[in-house]
Amino acid sequence: MPGNELIGNEELDEISYIFKNGSVLYRYGFDNKRNNCFKVREFESQFSRYFSMKYALGVTSGTAALRVALAALGIKEGDEVITQSFTFVATVEAIIESKATPICTEIDNTLNMDPIDLEKKITSNTKAVIVVHMLGTPANLEQIKEICSRKKIYLIEDTAWGCGGSLQNKKLGTWGDISTFSFDFAKTMTTGEGGMLLIKNKDVYKRASAWHDHGHENNPNFARWEDTRSSSGFNFRMNELQGAVGLAQLRKLDKIVNLQRSNSSYIWGKLKTIKNIQLRNAPKGSYETCDALIFLVPNKITAHRCREEIINQGLTTKILPEAYTWHFAGTWNHMSELVRASNNDLKNAFPKSQSLLERAVAIPINVEMEEGYALKLYNAVNKALHFNES
Ligand SMILES: *Cc1c(COP(=O)(O)O)cnc(C)c1O
Repeated sequence: MPGNELIGNEELDEISYIFKNGSVLYRYGFDNKRNNCFKVREFESQFSRYFSMKYALGVTSGTAALRVALAALGIKEGDEVITQSFTFVATVEAIIESKATPICTEIDNTLNMDPIDLEKKITSNTKAVIVVHMLGTPANLEQIKEICSRKKIYLIEDTAWGCGGSLQNKKLGTWGDISTFSFDFAKTMTTGEGGMLLIKNKDVYKRASAWHDHGHENNPNFARWEDTRSSSGFNFRMNELQGAVGLAQLRKLDKIVNLQRSNSSYIWGKLKTIKNIQLRNAPKGSYETCDALIFLVPNKITAHRCREEIINQGLTTKILPEAYTWHFAGTWNHMSELVRASNNDLKNAFPKSQSLLERAVAIPINVEMEEGYALKLYNAVNKALHFNES
């Protein structure tokens, strides 16, 4: 557990500042009451500076960020949006909410979008691709970006787990036309609930900003109740408390990622001596956030045995294998739109992804690592893999 381990006085100070300066918890207006205290605005500005991206927009969640991104790009009924079979349900939910058709690709051995399958699934209706850097390992962005540019399709990066990572020295979240972030309580940095979009194009930013606020253009020449508008929208506004916490967390982001990386490599240093376990692949030039350490074992039974042994040591796994069904599209029979788009045969839609994911084990990486954590993991995994010998 990353950012939520380090919440403390810095976040409290940022919040106190609001209460010492008018207590306005709303991001817009009330100018005579707030002594120029605008925490969401400041958070957006610091966030975009950190990424060297032009525009940032704070929203209520990572799911909302995806929904706003699709709205800002004008995605509508009849359009197809492609994402990957290993993701969180939110990615597909946002596509369904935008009335577009959700298409999922197989994953490759980075456990992210397989560029070869992506190319196969593009049709004349494909308008956007949402690539996900699951649990902090970059997708094969160079190939995916090349395909999207060549086919003139928008690229959205779901950077919910990639915040603070990079590929070829270029930060995750700066490769796409839009990138989305989640600051929910389990993410690398957190505001409790919250999200952000980074956007390259000014007009797309303006549409996103209006759409996330009922269509308000926040025209400086008019009072809010007389504001100009050119589209409808919804309410996904971030509030000032979230903005305040986000500012303090952003200042800790590099430290969080550094600690996760060194803890992860320490743990892998122990685990890698075990026979028949294989680290998840990372593209060349990856700087992973290491929110989790994922390795593959020979089969599904062994993966579950790893979890049992890890629990026996008083520890736990993260997402794989226990929350597999929340993160693998091949099990989402409750999403009729996805079932229909997968020839009504979801179960057999992603055989390659399934064979990778069902034998994967993910270890949560903490910022504060207990003494003996790696050794306990080693003992658990070693026991699970040598089960038949004992
Ligand atoms: C967490 C997550 C989301 C959703 O973010 P929320 O802030 O929880 O709504 C979207 N996509 C991925 C890949 C995630 O892990």
